[in-house]
Amino acid sequence: MTAPTIHIQNASLAYGKTQVFANINLVLPAGKWVSLLGPSGIGKSSLLRMICGLIDPRESVRGTITAGNHLPVSQQIAYMAQTDLLLPWLTVLENATLGLKLRGIPSGQYNSLSDKARDLLDKAGLHQATHLYPRQLSGGMRQRVALVRTLMEDKPIVLMDEPFSALDAITRYKLQHLAAELLRNKTVFFITHDPTEALRLSDDIYIMQGFPATLKPIASLVSAAPRELTNREVIDLQALLFQELSQAAGEAA
Ligand code: ADP
Ligand code: MG
Repeated sequence: MTAPTIHIQNASLAYGKTQVFANINLVLPAGKWVSLLGPSGIGKSSLLRMICGLIDPRESVRGTITAGNHLPVSQQIAYMAQTDLLLPWLTVLENATLGLKLRGIPSGQYNSLSDKARDLLDKAGLHQATHLYPRQLSGGMRQRVALVRTLMEDKPIVLMDEPFSALDAITRYKLQHLAAELLRNKTVFFITHDPTEALRLSDDIYIMQGFPATLKPIASLVSAAPRELTNREVIDLQALLFQELSQAAGEAA
């Protein structure tokens, strides 16, 4: 399925009396990677959950979220939450293929998809961990399983909330490559605290800031992702992004 554009219009959210964000307008262009940065507690995860249709209807939510192909957005999404949501009673391989089971994939297809999961787990450095349970894994390993599970979903829209935050620098770098390759031509919305990560992977970068929060467009990059750290755009935009982030953090403090 071709990845659609997502239109977010006049999105507002309040938890009780606290207005988290107001009148946010954002376009996630078809097949592009959009990253969102901003201070902790500003409302990034809430916006992402709202796009997924996962905000409790008792909260005050306003605005419309539509897909360019007119299909329901929530049915086209693979979502990787900030917490890994692994099921403790399933092994790494079983967690990675959970979505296939839930969708009732015919047993004939299950073997090839299971092979694909093993291949991805291998690429994520988990080849010796496929039979382990979540409690036997480090935080970084759990996060990699959750990433593989998300990549296995093969949905046209992928929303990820700080998917690499628990990883060491080298593993993070490798998995950024893997994600960029596997998510090419999908519509991606990605939350990160890491400016370099955003610059390596994104087509468009926004910062969420202020009370109630709004979005500020920071940069659009044109060279092909994943970008090397020596890429001209990555180098040139690094200082600007740091400056904008520290300004946003100053407002939030
Ligand atoms: P971020 O992802 O940018 O750190 P969140 O979207 O998680 O921010 O949270 C934004 C604000 O809303 C924070 O003040 C947080 O405490 C509050 N919040 C988040 N989820 C809920 C919830 N389910 N109920 C009430 N308040 C919430
Ligand atoms: Mg968050």
